[in-house]
Amino acid sequence: MTISSDDMIAYVDMDGVLVDFPYNIEDVDQSIREECKEWCMRTNNHHSDFDGLFSTLPPVLGGAEALVRLEAGGYTVYLLSTAPWGNHSSSSDKRRWVENNLPNLPIKRLILSHRKDLNRGALLIDDRPNNGAKEFGDFEGQRWLHFGSEEFPDWESVLTELGC
Ligand SMILES: [Mg+2]
Repeated sequence: MTISSDDMIAYVDMDGVLVDFPYNIEDVDQSIREECKEWCMRTNNHHSDFDGLFSTLPPVLGGAEALVRLEAGGYTVYLLSTAPWGNHSSSSDKRRWVENNLPNLPIKRLILSHRKDLNRGALLIDDRPNNGAKEFGDFEGQRWLHFGSEEFPDWESVLTELGC
C-alpha cells in the first residue's frame, strides 16, 4: 500500500471544538442575546441562523495550541466547518474568526461544507455526527474522532491519542 499525502491531513471542526458555540440560547453573547431570542421567537428559527451570531463567539481554551501541536506532529491541518445555510453572514463571520483567532494557521485552510464526508484525509475531529462527520469515519482508512465524547473529552485526550 502506498502512503499518500491524504494520510496526514487532519480536518478540525470549528463549533464546539475550536469555537465556544452557545448550544443553549441562554449562552448567546449578552450583546445580542435579547435581540436574538426575540428574533427566534418571532421567526421560529434556531439561534444559529441569527445574523452576526458567529462574529461574537470566543475560542475554546487550548484550541489554537492544539493545532500547532498537530502541525508539529506532522499533520496538515484544515478547518472543516459548516456555515448554516439560513445565516448568510455565517460564512464571512467564520472566515473572519479564523483570521482573528488563529493567526498562525496558514491562509486558505478553511473549508466550509455541508458534506464533510466528501473530503479525503486521515481524520476528522468533530463534536457532532452531523453534516457528514459520521460518514467521514465510515469510509475505509478514515477516522472520525468524536470530540467531547467519553473517549475524547478534550484536546489533551485527542493529542495523546495522536501522539502529538
Ligand atoms: Mg461542531
